[in-house]
Amino acid sequence: MKKGIAIIGIIAACAGFAYSGWHILGTTSKLVKNHSLNSNIKKLEKEKSKKEKVLDELTKKNEELTAKYEQMKKDGKIKIVHLTFDDGPSNNTEKILEILKRNNIKATFFVIGRNQNKYKEIIDAGHAIGLHSYTHDYKYIYANEHNFFEDLYRLRDAVKAKTGKDVRITRFPGGSSNAIASKALKQQIITRMAREGYIYHDWNCDSTDASGNGVPVQKLIKYGICTNHPEIDVLMHDTNVKGTTVQALQTIIDGYRKAGYSFEVITPSSMKIQHVKQPELKDLKK
Ligand SMILES: [Zn+2]
Repeated sequence: MKKGIAIIGIIAACAGFAYSGWHILGTTSKLVKNHSLNSNIKKLEKEKSKKEKVLDELTKKNEELTAKYEQMKKDGKIKIVHLTFDDGPSNNTEKILEILKRNNIKATFFVIGRNQNKYKEIIDAGHAIGLHSYTHDYKYIYANEHNFFEDLYRLRDAVKAKTGKDVRITRFPGGSSNAIASKALKQQIITRMAREGYIYHDWNCDSTDASGNGVPVQKLIKYGICTNHPEIDVLMHDTNVKGTTVQALQTIIDGYRKAGYSFEVITPSSMKIQHVKQPELKDLKK
């Protein structure tokens, strides 16, 4: 009997020993694991702060360069031209894209709601799209604020569906100085645009291709090259009836090149060339 109890005692002691040994082993390995995790975290934190420092430096550098660039533009040392094409896309858009590609330059297309399959082609070639209006129907869009924005959103959604881009650059049909919309309505539209983050761009160089169809190439060249300002927005059209615009384009490009202009697309940070000035969001009454 005593022997039996002794054996049970020994077994119990062995089990206890084995259990505590296993427990110690487990705790030790947990400690080792925690230690290596901690050192990994420290290493990553160090790397993170190093990268944050580099990012800060790069951001500062970028801001300095942008300010310098803007100043150079103001001083007229850098000259920029934005070639813009309204009312497309059409078959002539294809021809214009070809010419731009040949010259390795980019332009901005203020599209309307037709030939939507060409939107992506424009974007894929590195050009910018601006919202002109879906219907380009003056009577409808300038009837009231509701119609204007319904039409604008419709185009914005179509462009987004085809290209994935949520475009905020716009151009009023007829320009912001058009006489079709009343002054009061235009002011309502302009204010709402500012609130919703839309930026409209007019032009300070009119090729005159909207004055009729088949405007002579020589006239388009004469009016389409304006070198009196360091930043130019040229108004042109890429509808099917504007064949002479296509014919004049290469000479217009050459004219700007010769005058030292570089070709850029319109972006949200481009200088706002506007006939009626858009208020800054911060200046609007709450
Ligand atoms: Zn138009």
